[in-house]
Amino acid sequence: MYPESDLLPISALQHLIFCPRQCALIHIERIWMENQFTAEGRILHERVHSPEARRKGVVRVEYALPLRSLRLGLAGVADVIEFHGLGPKRGRGAEEPYPVEYKRGKPKSDDSDLIQLCAQAMCLEEMLGVSVPEGALFYGRERRRTKVQFDDGLRRGTEECAKLLHGIVASGMTPAPAYGRKCGKCSLMEACLPKPCGGRRPVSRYLSAILEEQE
Ligand code: SF4
Repeated sequence: MYPESDLLPISALQHLIFCPRQCALIHIERIWMENQFTAEGRILHERVHSPEARRKGVVRVEYALPLRSLRLGLAGVADVIEFHGLGPKRGRGAEEPYPVEYKRGKPKSDDSDLIQLCAQAMCLEEMLGVSVPEGALFYGRERRRTKVQFDDGLRRGTEECAKLLHGIVASGMTPAPAYGRKCGKCSLMEACLPKPCGGRRPVSRYLSAILEEQE
């Protein structure tokens, strides 16, 4: 269990999966710069992140719900949590939370969106003492929901990612850049300087050292 003071943002999991150096620049060195992709994402979330509650039939919808898990050491704000009524057979007023995360663009080739959503589900389970088996991602370009099952593999991956994130932040060390295609989409390109500064220490060796320190 992590103390409240050590909780890290759920969104940092995405930064870590995208690039460990980007994660360290944002969450250790506190550097933030905006580009077209981050601006579009921010505007999308600002629209969704006005706290309010609504009801659509048997579904109660909460917007901008604060989340946290002391076990994962994470905290954040959910875009949308739907509470699905389970019917009288499951108990009067019984509801199942169903997180829905809004994303600009289209599904990514990595698991970062799945892991971020799964972390939200695990926060809800810890906070509410219920099980959250499924949620959904809504991509702006496709304008439709993709269902996500929170299976054991995804939960394990989310736990490992949260552990690694805490290890990186606790180490206070920023890995050297590893220039790649991802850098073209990175808002921190100017601060990072991946071409002139790259190659001092491979990221894989840096991550192994962090994991060894944790064990
Ligand atoms: S420019 Fe490339 S190496 Fe540097 S932080 Fe961004 S993605 Fe990582």
